[in-house]
Amino acid sequence: MNNLPGRLAQKILNVSDFHEAEELIAQEVNVVLKTLQNADFLEASPATQVNAVNPVTETAATPKKHAQAPAQNEGSGRQSGGPQMTALQVRPVQRMWEWIDEHVVIPQVIGSLNPGPLDTSLMPFWRGIYDAFWSKKTHFLTLACSARVGKTLFCICCVLHKKGVWPGPVLWVDPTGKTAKAFSRTELQAHIMECRPVADKAIIDKTHWTTLLMHFTGSVLRLVGGGSVADLAGYQAEMVILNETDKTKHNLKGEAATQDLALARTKQFRFTRKILENSTPTTEWGRIWSRFKAGSQEHVYLPCPHCGHKQRLTFFADEKEVPFDEEGKPLPAGTKRVEKTGRFKFDHLKREDGSYDLERVERETVYECACCQKTIDQSHQAWMLRRYELRAHNPAAPVDHRSFHIWAALSPFEGWGMIAKEFLLARGSISRMHNFTNSTLGLPFVRKDHGHQNRRHRRHDCPLAGVPAA
Ligand SMILES: [Zn+2]
Repeated sequence: MNNLPGRLAQKILNVSDFHEAEELIAQEVNVVLKTLQNADFLEASPATQVNAVNPVTETAATPKKHAQAPAQNEGSGRQSGGPQMTALQVRPVQRMWEWIDEHVVIPQVIGSLNPGPLDTSLMPFWRGIYDAFWSKKTHFLTLACSARVGKTLFCICCVLHKKGVWPGPVLWVDPTGKTAKAFSRTELQAHIMECRPVADKAIIDKTHWTTLLMHFTGSVLRLVGGGSVADLAGYQAEMVILNETDKTKHNLKGEAATQDLALARTKQFRFTRKILENSTPTTEWGRIWSRFKAGSQEHVYLPCPHCGHKQRLTFFADEKEVPFDEEGKPLPAGTKRVEKTGRFKFDHLKREDGSYDLERVERETVYECACCQKTIDQSHQAWMLRRYELRAHNPAAPVDHRSFHIWAALSPFEGWGMIAKEFLLARGSISRMHNFTNSTLGLPFVRKDHGHQNRRHRRHDCPLAGVPAA
């Protein structure tokens, strides 16, 4: 502990990032706390309680989902270190998804599939994405997702965590003013009211709490429609959420794109800003797919329960060059290998006349492993999800830009058989295939004159649509 302030000041001068400086201070405070725990002269008293300054540090000691925890902690503290231990607990540095699991509740009112306390362990890859978002290196995070996999919920949780843990101004950009109002009333405000640490900070009166502008102790949350970002002169935000960007229309003559205008509002927070963008893709040239391509292009890899081979799930068997080996270790710079994926298997579920038995498709569709070709039933999905890994396809991406592709097959709330049935029903119609590709596969739609993709579809008797390699 010799010369702590001097040593700390020296360390802080050597870092350039605000979060890094905060973490350093928190580490030093924890060292001091540990030392104090061993000091005999201290009496246990409430006055000796100290909170570390790191914004991710837990201040309310007990997670609500573990109601038994305080008694146990207290007991073990007494046993190991005497009474002063209870007053001088070193607070754990809490991860973002731990805070979310503890405090976020899905409101009953919005018709969610799964109301009640949020449990990120059901789709554990979101935990990896929360970690990526929280990393001090990340300033841009892009989510290219199919519908109903929780991308909006992810963004809501980021806003709640921001308001609850490290308050700062937040700007939420929805496609239009109308969708912004509807979203605020039906979803966002309901989540805020259910999240205790955030609701406690809300200033609810006629001037400070409106549909599009909400005040909290020390910060504001503002929502705008895509066309109104230009009106935000003078407003600065530390976090910007660009919701459903492919649905935002650009019809402002002579104006920069909505997203760029929103980005300009973060200049003041260059070192701490977080720009989170999500959408269901539309076309290859749409905003979200371009941003996904520009980022790290991360995919969820799950192991086969038979052979253990980790693979990216795809609806059709696919081949793509990737910059890592079978185990996910990076290949030497500039080299790539061809990765093969498995496929949804339902082509055996036909009647004698050759037509598909849709009821059996719904019940019996399985996944065929890319490696051992054995079939995987969806009952293995939870086991596979627990062993997920995120692998990046774009080693050339800027370090501050992480991008992720998430689609319906990864959700325990979507039946694999339903996905296959949806595909079979969409065949023969360009608009339905377009919708299936965007909303269910989470991929941009590509028209038929794309060589190998066309052949791949012909196998399923579908001459109309192609799906690009993700
Ligand atoms: Zn296998």
